[in-house]
Amino acid sequence: MKKIAVLTSGGDSPGMNAAVRAVVRKALYHDIEVFGVYRGYTGLIEGDLKPFHLGSVGDIIHRGGTILHSARSEEFKTTEGQLKAVKQLQDRDIDGLVVIGGDGSYRGADKLVEHGIATIGVPGTIDNDIPGTDFTIGFDTALNTIIQAIDKIRDTATSHERTFLIEVMGRHAGDLALWSSLAAGAETILIPEVPYKIEEVIERLERGTRREKKHSIIVVAEGVGSAIKIGEEIKSKTSLEPRVTVLGHLQRGGQPSAFDRVLASRLGAFAVELLLSGKKGLSVGIESNQLVYYSISEVLKRKHTIDETMYQLSHHLSI
Ligand code: ADP
Repeated sequence: MKKIAVLTSGGDSPGMNAAVRAVVRKALYHDIEVFGVYRGYTGLIEGDLKPFHLGSVGDIIHRGGTILHSARSEEFKTTEGQLKAVKQLQDRDIDGLVVIGGDGSYRGADKLVEHGIATIGVPGTIDNDIPGTDFTIGFDTALNTIIQAIDKIRDTATSHERTFLIEVMGRHAGDLALWSSLAAGAETILIPEVPYKIEEVIERLERGTRREKKHSIIVVAEGVGSAIKIGEEIKSKTSLEPRVTVLGHLQRGGQPSAFDRVLASRLGAFAVELLLSGKKGLSVGIESNQLVYYSISEVLKRKHTIDETMYQLSHHLSI
């Protein structure tokens, strides 16, 4: 292997820059030429890539977002689009590719493997929904952003003795909601992995009111549905006037945490090591703080699950 390329794709996450830096520096350390591909698969199809050197990734380890930019490409979902991307790599004699992104980006990476490109996936998403790793790059930073927001909302919730619903990201996964609820001491958590009944939520709120609780915080994972609608339902069935905050895209931005920078550095460098040892079609991750890898196709077949004991714990601690 003499030349590799790296791209970031799909939803961005804090720490992607640290991962790009690790891929580039590790490749250069081993005297491998490395190309940065701009705008994910869109840029790959269009040939928007250029050789990177040590300075190309200087001063980015602490920055959120991705200097390579990201994109969503409908064209890449077609075989024609994928073959255009393959040709761009072949024309430059690039033999390996590192894709940093979420599960959609992994599906794209899997197609490139089928077309003969040695590709390694690095899990970059705030959602923590990629099987085969305990944590994805960006999850820890997003979690910290969420709990800062909940702490602030808690102040005003206490002052006004109000019920707040806070909608957090996570797509179909409840990890951000689960971990942030535990970390911020929310009273109720609604996640897609555990069905809920609105009557039970209301009963919890009323139990809190009976014991003169001053406020209540309900964290809603976006995968459950709209927190605004759930708030309206609670309002129509109780005397409460719940307030709703949808945290939205602020969860995606910001300086990556130390944890995400270290994780990204380890996973990015590991991806290059795997390419150099002739491996392909793999997803890298950490389990119990050890670097691991699984085949991308296996990761795509597996279903992400939550840690049920953490869900029970959040209930036990917020009675
Ligand atoms: P994420 O990687 O954050 O999950 P997306 O789901 O938007 O983000 O996927 C990013 C990109 O990956 C898509 O815009 C598309 O180009 C590519 N992709 C997603 N699914 C497929 C697929 N089934 N086949 C080929 N490419 C795909």
